Amino acid sequence: MIDLHCHSIFSDGLCSPSELVSLAVERRVKLLALTDHDTVSGLDSIHSFAKQANVSIIDGIELSVHWKKYDIHIIGLAINREDSALLALIKQQTDSRRQRAQQIGLQLTAACGIDNAYLHACDIAGHDRVGRAHFAKLLMDKGITNDFKAGFKRFLGRGRAAYVASSWISLEAAVSGIVKAGGQAVIAHPMKYKLTRTKLDELVRAFKEAGGQGIEVVSGETTPADAQTMAGLSNRFDLLASTGSDFHGHEVSRVALGQQRILPASCKPIWDYWGK
Ligand code: MN
Ligand code: MN
Ligand code: MN
Repeated sequence: MIDLHCHSIFSDGLCSPSELVSLAVERRVKLLALTDHDTVSGLDSIHSFAKQANVSIIDGIELSVHWKKYDIHIIGLAINREDSALLALIKQQTDSRRQRAQQIGLQLTAACGIDNAYLHACDIAGHDRVGRAHFAKLLMDKGITNDFKAGFKRFLGRGRAAYVASSWISLEAAVSGIVKAGGQAVIAHPMKYKLTRTKLDELVRAFKEAGGQGIEVVSGETTPADAQTMAGLSNRFDLLASTGSDFHGHEVSRVALGQQRILPASCKPIWDYWGK
């Protein structure tokens, strides 16, 4: 099995890098990319555990970007995690993330009376790179919502009382940052943005123009029909195909590490490109 998209406690995942490696061994995942949101902080740790466990690690990241009016996620794979320009880009994202989270915290206090919501979210995360997922957990912990999705529906989603627009880097900045760090940029979970066919084509063209090379043909919750559609898209635009569960932890992910469906045979797997 190959899984090129998952999260650890260094972003909004529930597993430590060592737990991810144990799961990889259990699930016979031979090639694993850790792709935490806007950070490479978990990579040193996962390498140290993977070495003993015979799991190959691909250094990854999932960058949030702004393209037109959409928030899009771009995965960087096989990056140099010490690249100084990439680290500068990450620093910029971290600052935006922190500012946004502090503002979400204030609006949550106003909307439902949770004091110091930002600090509580940092406690839940165990770090200060918090995102909406951590606030959704906070709302559950406080008994305000019953499940994870309700937090987004009632407070955190677009148009709701604690919604704060993000100021992520551009698509071009993310792709070129990944490419300059020696990696391949991949459009994450292309079906998740609910773009029309025409808009998705437009995104792919802009992405390719910026130097992007790959697309996630299969993600955790991809249906067989969508996998076929995305395989067609990847071939039409001559993109390398990636696959990943987008696993965040058993409590929150329906698809476990390495358990996403297999890549359609017509695709060009990105690991062939790496010679793996
Ligand atoms: Mn996430
Ligand atoms: Mn994502
Ligand atoms: Mn993800």
